[in-house]
Amino acid sequence: MKTFKADLHIHTCLSPCADLDMTPKAIVEKSLGLGLDIVAICDHNSAENVEATVRAGIQRKLCVLPGLEINSREEVHLLAIFESVEKALHMQETVYRYLKGTNRPEFFGDQVVVNEFDEVEGFNDRLLIGAVDLGLQEIVSEVHRQGGLTIASHVDRPSFSIISQLGFIPPDLELDALEITQGMRQRNVSTMGERPIVTSSDAHFLHDVGRAYTPFFLESPNLEEIRMALFGKSGRKVGT
Ligand SMILES: [Zn+2]
Ligand SMILES: [Zn+2]
Repeated sequence: MKTFKADLHIHTCLSPCADLDMTPKAIVEKSLGLGLDIVAICDHNSAENVEATVRAGIQRKLCVLPGLEINSREEVHLLAIFESVEKALHMQETVYRYLKGTNRPEFFGDQVVVNEFDEVEGFNDRLLIGAVDLGLQEIVSEVHRQGGLTIASHVDRPSFSIISQLGFIPPDLELDALEITQGMRQRNVSTMGERPIVTSSDAHFLHDVGRAYTPFFLESPNLEEIRMALFGKSGRKVGT
């Protein structure tokens, strides 16, 4: 086993607030250049660019995990990361059923769907920045039904985090991990209970990819190994 560097929270040009340079090939090349071993693509309420980025990753032997960053009814951001594109797209179907509204690119930004060659395939016109009419508990249950991992996004940030929206982390909510921004003070972490802590970049711009990452001690880079590390099973662990 060895240490793998994982940045599990990266947006593409599909997210209205992300830079148009956040294309599959560019993200993969940037990640490889930084020595990352695993990245997860988590656009707001959509997985329409995950297949392209997974394909770009396969071409360059980078493990790209398909995911979404779902904005719950409580306006809490939650990462949902899956082992296959099919499962991420299945989750997307559920999210789209409960997501209302139309994007206004002039206010929120373009939502660009691309292929693995960084060519534009179209524009998503849903209000991806909006909240899905599903509660946190419902989302966590559905992600787990699909075999995915749930990670509460940027829990230490003053907006769209579980702490900012609820004031606490419900003890019965079966989150697999909490994401903090790098450098968060230890005394705050101690209030978060026993859940594993990861750090990720939440990159919306290429220069932010890998700015924060989590080292995982694993046998190989894939979702199941990360799950074992989060649960501290069979020698896998979060850390070096
Ligand atoms: Zn977020
Ligand atoms: Zn994000």
